Amino acid sequence: MVQIRHEGMTSIPMSTETAGSGTSGNNRELLLGDAHTHLDQYGPEEIPGILARAAEAGIGFIVCAGTTLESTRACIRMSEEHDAFYAGVGIHPMEAHQTVDDSTYAELESLARNNDKVVCISEIGLDYMPTSPDHQVQDQVFRAQIRLAKSLNLPVIFHSRESHSDVFKTLREEDAGSVGGVMHYFQGDEPTAREAIEGGFFISMARPLTRLPHLQDVARSIPLENMVLETDAYPQPFKKYRHNWTEPRHVREVAQFLADLKGITLEEVAETTTRNLAGLLGLNSDGERVSKD
Ligand SMILES: [Zn+2]
Repeated sequence: MVQIRHEGMTSIPMSTETAGSGTSGNNRELLLGDAHTHLDQYGPEEIPGILARAAEAGIGFIVCAGTTLESTRACIRMSEEHDAFYAGVGIHPMEAHQTVDDSTYAELESLARNNDKVVCISEIGLDYMPTSPDHQVQDQVFRAQIRLAKSLNLPVIFHSRESHSDVFKTLREEDAGSVGGVMHYFQGDEPTAREAIEGGFFISMARPLTRLPHLQDVARSIPLENMVLETDAYPQPFKKYRHNWTEPRHVREVAQFLADLKGITLEEVAETTTRNLAGLLGLNSDGERVSKD
């Protein structure tokens, strides 16, 4: 018996090694990514808990998108402090109160170029709600940031509200498809989804998928190969209970819902959406930075 155990012990490391090198995809834990958040808006004391809950739900990497220069700097700081965070550099259309002049452009460029964990230009776009900034100013700010993305070969993760036709027109005119990106927090119809995809972009599904029937129809007909997942998480004090505030952990709920809609497994949704997002952002399949040519 002693001999048998001894032989067994010697064989254990070998079989472990074989399994580890040969089938690294099989036994790996679920890995999901959150393409878009504003976690810099949470107090720093909240972040460890948010990250722990995300990790427990299998969310391995999270993009924090800037909305102003200051918020971009905060996202970059957080990405330096926490492995799971990556940062987007951007001025949000609702913050586009003045055009991007040379010095602002230089500042954005420097933030994107000099920080290893900047993986995209975001959040940029157009927003035509009644209270939004002047449309011409928004247009200039959007175009300047698309040009920045192209000069740095970074994808754009963009916002479109009541403005789809102008957003697509601008993306086409500026050839943003050459760097690709994501139409974030997608809530449009199927023709809108197809237009985004034909333009070279992923559509990003968030929690509205779990409650909007028209979005569920879109999700059924659009291939998973064209989708990523996100939460757009930011503090939500208007919700009665803190545990209902959207956090990156909710990506798993969206993924599970999508899996059920498509009649596939959660693992398939995780594998494909993570491959899509990680590939776009220059990350490997473990959500870690790889050098981009
Ligand atoms: Zn956002």
